Amino acid sequence: MQTRDSDFLVVGSGLAGLTAALHLSAHGKVLLVSKRTAEEGNSRYAQGGIACVMDPDDSIEEHVADTLQTGGGLSEEEAVRAVVEGGRARIAELEEFGIHFERRAENREEYDLGQEGGHSRRRVLHAGDVTGKALIDGLLARAKADPNITLAGNWLAIDVVPTGWIGLAGQDRCIGCYFLDKNSGEIFAVRSPVTVLATGGLGKAYLYTSNPDVATGDGVAMAWRAGLPIRDMEMIQFHPTCLYHPDAKTFLISEAVRGEGAKLIDRRGREFVYDFDKRGSLAPRDITARAIDSVMKKHGDPFVYLDISHRDADFLQKRFPTLYEACLNFGFDMARAPVPVVPAAHYSCGGIVADVNGRTAMPGLYAIGEVASTGLHGANRLASNSLLEALVCGYCTAQEIAADQPGPVAEVSIPPWELGEAVSSDEAVVVEHNWNEVRTVMWDYVGIVRSDRRLTRARRRIRTIREEIRSYYREYLVTADLLELRNLAAVAELIVRSAQHRKESRGLHYNEDWPETAARARHAIVQDKPGGPLDVE
Ligand SMILES: Cc1cc2nc3c(=O)[nH]c(=O)nc-3n(C[C@H](O)[C@H](O)[C@H](O)COP(=O)(O)OP(=O)(O)OC[C@H]3O[C@@H](n4cnc5c(N)ncnc54)[C@H](O)[C@@H]3O)c2cc1C
Repeated sequence: MQTRDSDFLVVGSGLAGLTAALHLSAHGKVLLVSKRTAEEGNSRYAQGGIACVMDPDDSIEEHVADTLQTGGGLSEEEAVRAVVEGGRARIAELEEFGIHFERRAENREEYDLGQEGGHSRRRVLHAGDVTGKALIDGLLARAKADPNITLAGNWLAIDVVPTGWIGLAGQDRCIGCYFLDKNSGEIFAVRSPVTVLATGGLGKAYLYTSNPDVATGDGVAMAWRAGLPIRDMEMIQFHPTCLYHPDAKTFLISEAVRGEGAKLIDRRGREFVYDFDKRGSLAPRDITARAIDSVMKKHGDPFVYLDISHRDADFLQKRFPTLYEACLNFGFDMARAPVPVVPAAHYSCGGIVADVNGRTAMPGLYAIGEVASTGLHGANRLASNSLLEALVCGYCTAQEIAADQPGPVAEVSIPPWELGEAVSSDEAVVVEHNWNEVRTVMWDYVGIVRSDRRLTRARRRIRTIREEIRSYYREYLVTADLLELRNLAAVAELIVRSAQHRKESRGLHYNEDWPETAARARHAIVQDKPGGPLDVE
């Protein structure tokens, strides 16, 4: 087996990974890896923008308060403050890099700040309605031009390598990662004193999701297998408004549309969210998603409507050019009639326990962006805070690593990957079947509204699927599909187990058998090997 060496290994080239890589490159050689093209990931699809205090009438205190309020008691104030305070410097840096945020037509000195649910002020910076693409294109161009950064695409990280796994005594330390080269089928190792997991989200664990195909929870599953604590996995955010159309697999209609006055209405034209929250259509996502779910179930409707037809085509074309055009292509003119929408799995608030400097429980291993649970989002994410977190934590982690100066690992040799031998003729169909089953079970039993019975059922099904995957994994040559399925099933189990241990409803987790919120907010933490103990603190 080939072993490559790098000063810093960053797994994931979304906003978090790119930011970390660009700041690490001043300190050594960076290997920046993605499992498809470098562009592909949740970051690229972000439409709404980045929350940041830019308006002189706004304040850090208000942004912190809104984040804590939305976080439902599970956010940690220190982490929230660090991320919110770190925002302005990162925005200034992005502008120095040539990434521009929209300014007001009437006054070019002022930003055109968007309003989103849960924010008490307009504070969302945006680059048209393609903020994520603007960020990724801009930062990727810099990374490509940086002689200290090597980009590697189509490499799928399989597992990180803790020293304990290769029989070294003393405290576990991460010394790199095994990869599958998807082009050649070769398995190899990258040895590095620093591994940064920036692998993004896990929306693909659900049948309906706004996330692209790469979001299979690989980083969380890898960290869990390496024995790290994984926190609050039941806190899955469902975006209320994905376009309902057979060809629109993951097409999201940004919350910024509601910020500009769009209303959620049922088939009868009623703005039903007022039955659930006095803020109506501008209520936070968990409330609107639950309201939609409830109305759809009550009336047996497959969707509800989002109505911004009181705005003219001119305004919509200027404010939401990509969105407006895409809806037109699907046959919906937002300026003329309401568009059908459904909720879909969107964001994972939980993840690998890490601080805002990316530090995890294992020296040498860092986690940033959506894969991490830093204490910012708690039980629910305030809209547009995740790009902010990816930027600030990506930067802080690079600073922390540079200050740490982790020791060399070149003298440690990573043993070859043990390959299964058989090539299965029916593997593709088994993987496809289990993949669909995991996603359907999660959607039906571990979705927006949960119950004890549904969670028990899901746990049983996921366990059976995981056993099947394990036997496949031992016997057959691994493929990218099998590795992703293994990770998807692992995160599904983590979500179910965390949900089962939360005997209350809080933030994004709603269990109809436990509708009340407990007086004390506690994290759900799963640690140790799969099947190991579950601890709630
Ligand atoms: C449609 C959509 C709209 C959104 N809108 C907003 C918004 O307006 N504002 C906001 O704040 N947030 C928004 N979000 C959320 C936000 O985009 C993400 O939380 C954030 O971009 C995550 O960034 P990341 O760098 O952690 O991960 P990602 O951008 O998802 O990048 C993950 C990277 O990891 C790589 N990877 C994954 N697994 C492996 C593996 N095994 N081996 C190698 N590489 C791997 C991928 O190839 C990819 O490069 C939105 C999300 C979606 C899906």
